[in-house]
Amino acid sequence: MASALSPKLSASLEQGVPASPVRVRFCPSPTGNPHVGLVRTALFNWAFARHHQGTLVFRIEDTDAARDSEESYDQLLDAMRWLGFDWDEGPEVGGPHAPYRQSQRMDCYAEVAGKLLDAGHAYHCYCSQEELDTRREAARAAGRPSGYDGHCRDLTPAQVEEYRAQGRTPIVRFRMPDETITFTDLVRGELTFTPENVPDYGIVRANGAPLYTLVNPVDDALMEITHVLRGEDLLSSTPRQIALYKALIELGIAKGIPDFGHLPYVMGEGNKKLSKRDPQSSLNLYRERGFLPEGLLNYLSLLGWSLSADQDIFTTDEMVAAFDIADVNPNPARFDLKKCEAINADHIRLLDVKDFTERCRPWLQAPFAPWAPEAFDETKWQAIAPHAQTRLKVLSEITDNVDFLFLPEPVLDEASWAKAMKEGSDAVLRTAREKLEPADWASAESLKEAVLAAGEAHGLKLGKAQAPVRVAVTGRTVGLPLFESLEVLGKERTLARIDAALAKLTA
Ligand code: GLU
Ligand code: ZN
Repeated sequence: MASALSPKLSASLEQGVPASPVRVRFCPSPTGNPHVGLVRTALFNWAFARHHQGTLVFRIEDTDAARDSEESYDQLLDAMRWLGFDWDEGPEVGGPHAPYRQSQRMDCYAEVAGKLLDAGHAYHCYCSQEELDTRREAARAAGRPSGYDGHCRDLTPAQVEEYRAQGRTPIVRFRMPDETITFTDLVRGELTFTPENVPDYGIVRANGAPLYTLVNPVDDALMEITHVLRGEDLLSSTPRQIALYKALIELGIAKGIPDFGHLPYVMGEGNKKLSKRDPQSSLNLYRERGFLPEGLLNYLSLLGWSLSADQDIFTTDEMVAAFDIADVNPNPARFDLKKCEAINADHIRLLDVKDFTERCRPWLQAPFAPWAPEAFDETKWQAIAPHAQTRLKVLSEITDNVDFLFLPEPVLDEASWAKAMKEGSDAVLRTAREKLEPADWASAESLKEAVLAAGEAHGLKLGKAQAPVRVAVTGRTVGLPLFESLEVLGKERTLARIDAALAKLTA
């Protein structure tokens, strides 16, 4: 009963038997900046594909010319690369179902829409927005379902003639079958949708532009996607897509219906859904702050999944080895920035020190570094890096932590000064200077002994005794391990800074 498919569509369906039957897709729309929700979806699809040695299709859903941009497209690709994802089909790698940008596949959608209309699975709807709104209000007031009421389902030729004469241009609407749709969600179990909750829906705009409702399942069918893993916000489109799939199967365009799994909502501040516009959700922000991709991915994987009850820190390889969509928790996940930072800190510790030293580079240069480029000293950086690695939560913190080494004077933080330079601090500082002078400056341990001895002379524990020294030398009360810092800065500059602080205290 189905008419012949165009060569392009049939070629897309003739792909032989793949090694693994699993084919998943990541199919963002290039609007705005990449956000963490999108990254979580990409991660779960990628891990699922890799776990099953399946195929990850990366598709760009750019059919909304008003909202999509080339800049967002470039950012998406850049983000995927930065995160370390690879894909088997899609932009830059190509594949048997190319092109992978929907804006270049418009002929496919027009062809499918035509076939759906011919077979009676879709129809032209001439209702104006005002008419739809009025009827929706009336239905609501009467306590009836407020979705599309089927007004244009079975127009007579005469009615169509009249609408045309009025100059109306129709949209294309999919005819939902009058039956209950049940499917087993891979995350949420069995779900049932009754017809009154899933009315007929638009698939092509009056101007001929195909909608997400059409292009997304059509491409999933043509690209032979076996598992659709996406956010819970898209759950309501699933019964519609299942009905559309059945029509596509009948038309020879789809081979089967994929399995669906809906990933839980991510909640942000005040237990509200984390939105794309939330500053906390901007991927660029995490990159600028110096999150490691492996730390961020580790944290995002915990939004709905866990490796085991007692292991929060793991690599993406460990995730891939263990990942099962059936283990995803359907309950909303809470986005916790503190935990995200803590996990990132752990991943910073796990880096090889050479790797750490290199990954910090961007924050040791303009525009972040406040020192003159020629003041940067590679030997000092290499010497301090292992001590910095134990302290950072995010890489961008490196700048403030090492500026005392490369600036001529420390950046004096007023609050730190007030806190550390109490009554009697000048005496402690003077003793510390005396003890540090003859110490072994090639040994942080020896410098520590000196400050310890200075503290003892004033009845102070090490912590209290070292506070004025730290502020005098680095400008702040918190920072990298102090005695290693003094050793790297060197005797001459350390003593000069203590002298400057003493002068300031007695002035
Ligand atoms: N382009 C859609 C989005 O970004 C994809 C939704 C889906 O996975 O079906 O929301
Ligand atoms: Zn209508």
